[in-house]
Amino acid sequence: IFLKPEASQNTKVKWEAGKPVPYAALSHAFVEIEATTKRLIILEILTKLFVRIIELSPSNLLPAVYLCINRLCPDYEGLELGIGEGILLKAIAQGTGRDMKTVKKDLEAKGDLGLVAIGSRQKQPTMFKAPALTVPAVFKQLKEIAAMTGSKSQERKMGGIKKLLAASVDEEPKYIMRSLEGKLRIGLAERTVLVALAQSIVITGAKKGKRLSPEAMSEEIARGTEVLKAVFSEIPNYDMVVPALLESGIDGCRQKCKLTPGIPLKPMLAKPTKAITEVLDRFEDKAFTCEYKYDGERAQVHYFVPAGAQAGSKAQLAVFSRNSENMSLKYPDLVEQVPRCIHADVQSFVFDAEVTAWKKAEPQADGSVLAARLLPFQELSRRKRKDVKAEDITVKVKLFAFDLLYLNGQPLLHMDLAERRKLLHASFHAVPDEFDFATSQDCTTTEEIQAFLDVSVQSGCEGLMVKMLQGREATYEPSRRSLNWLKLKKDYLAGTGDSLDLVVIGGYYGKGKRTNVYGAFLLACYDADSESYQSVCKIGTGFTEEMLEAHYNTLKPLELQSKKAYYDVGEAKPDVYFESRVVWEVLTADLSLSPVYTAAKGMCDAQRGISLRFPRFLRIRDDKDPDDSTAPEQILVLIERKPCSVTGAAGFSLSC
Ligand code: ATP
Repeated sequence: IFLKPEASQNTKVKWEAGKPVPYAALSHAFVEIEATTKRLIILEILTKLFVRIIELSPSNLLPAVYLCINRLCPDYEGLELGIGEGILLKAIAQGTGRDMKTVKKDLEAKGDLGLVAIGSRQKQPTMFKAPALTVPAVFKQLKEIAAMTGSKSQERKMGGIKKLLAASVDEEPKYIMRSLEGKLRIGLAERTVLVALAQSIVITGAKKGKRLSPEAMSEEIARGTEVLKAVFSEIPNYDMVVPALLESGIDGCRQKCKLTPGIPLKPMLAKPTKAITEVLDRFEDKAFTCEYKYDGERAQVHYFVPAGAQAGSKAQLAVFSRNSENMSLKYPDLVEQVPRCIHADVQSFVFDAEVTAWKKAEPQADGSVLAARLLPFQELSRRKRKDVKAEDITVKVKLFAFDLLYLNGQPLLHMDLAERRKLLHASFHAVPDEFDFATSQDCTTTEEIQAFLDVSVQSGCEGLMVKMLQGREATYEPSRRSLNWLKLKKDYLAGTGDSLDLVVIGGYYGKGKRTNVYGAFLLACYDADSESYQSVCKIGTGFTEEMLEAHYNTLKPLELQSKKAYYDVGEAKPDVYFESRVVWEVLTADLSLSPVYTAAKGMCDAQRGISLRFPRFLRIRDDKDPDDSTAPEQILVLIERKPCSVTGAAGFSLSC
């Protein structure tokens, strides 16, 4: 199975069967992973480690997996790392007896808190030796640190961090710091961890069972990997999947772990299209359907009786965002409204919908009535994210359901959209001003699509979603940006440009009227493979004075001591850098290659990155995590689509 000599046996760190896995074994694997860029080698290093853990200390597999993906629990539980730089610096200074000024200087020179921690640790006199760190102990401590809230939580967090630092040796402080920061940066993607998990389960299973030929083993690994990916897209929850894998192997896990109401699945996403003709090229003679693309916020609505509840217990309702965040406290009005649209024979469901801002019909002084209508997304974005009370609600919300993923105990993902839609319509009914189905039409010609698009835009929508309707390509594909869903936005078609979701990583001090705020900002896209933010443009347009003040108030507390090691900014030189927390949607008139910015550098041109021309601020995207911002690959697609400006011929930009 293991053929790559470069991937060492990773047996330097030994431990006894049944004992906790030493954290040194994990950090040693991290060192090896960081030293290579070859995905197969990385996969092998990790698989070997997981195999040893399964054989010696299987109960430690779950914390080891979490530490590899740098998370603490499923996304929807909302417990996150990402401790601010200030606290981490203080903890290093206090924990190692160095003064804050020197530690800050060190950070400016090294640019990496992990390296600062290693350097500081070496300078620290060791009076007595703390017991060696173990994988479960580090995981537990990180979880406790992240969960600390309330009074004196900063100090308590610092106490926890100092404890970890004091017990860490060799390269350990580096990975502990990076875990705390929220970015491990060793080039280990979550999909690789999932594949290593599948491989290690198959290998250890095969060791116990009958001997397989190398070919049969490879086939088994490939099959197991696909099965595990499918399981995980339905139930993205390692707390459930890892124990099921250990107990029952891959096929047993498939049986046990199915879409479960209460556990959000990653939503299916759409590919952008530039022209109606592209839609017809894609779907050709296949059956497809067009739906209004509502301009609101994605809402995955779950209705279920929790497992273990007493017989006769009432079903509960939960609303999850595009990022699997629980939004039930943001939309208490939705939680109250939805039960009114459910048919009596429905006991449990998961549907996919868009929550929109809605204005009820208004009687006018002259006796006429202004019809009820959709309001723009901005009306919704003023809501707090949590603890919204009745008195805080100034805008009514209406839900438009467009897909049904689970009904009365059965997952429906394998069905085609035509069947799922039929069940959706049979299980719910429209409630005026509260709930409706996405308006749809099955078009066949360019003219029909154009006409339907015009109506959708007149109704206050962003454009259309065009979806495969029947057959195997029309199943629901969780977490995939699929060609079976295309989005046709009016902005794209009008040629006003492309919109991107970018992270604010830097600020430029304002001049003139903007003296007391930031006058412009440095934006970046996120490259998941390198876990780095790549600069895309400087933006100073699209802001009112009030907006600039609000942005200043949000961003000022996020100012950093110096640039983070994983901000790949090229020649851009903002006055200050920020923690990567804020995502903005911006519109760009055009894209070009640039020697200054680094987005997608090396993909299109060896020396230059891609930058936005004349970017304009559209809105804050607080429904998106920074790591969900536009990826370099997506920016590459946008520039490749540009008509060639040099030859005038229809085709790709010459420089690409
Ligand atoms: P993406 O989700 O593709 O990364 P995004 O969040 O910026 O990008 P859009 O590009 O605007 O979203 O398009 C997809 C989104 O459109 C969906 O996530 C969903 O929230 C919304 N939407 C509105 N109407 C529909 C519909 N009928 N079917 C599917 N999605 C819809």
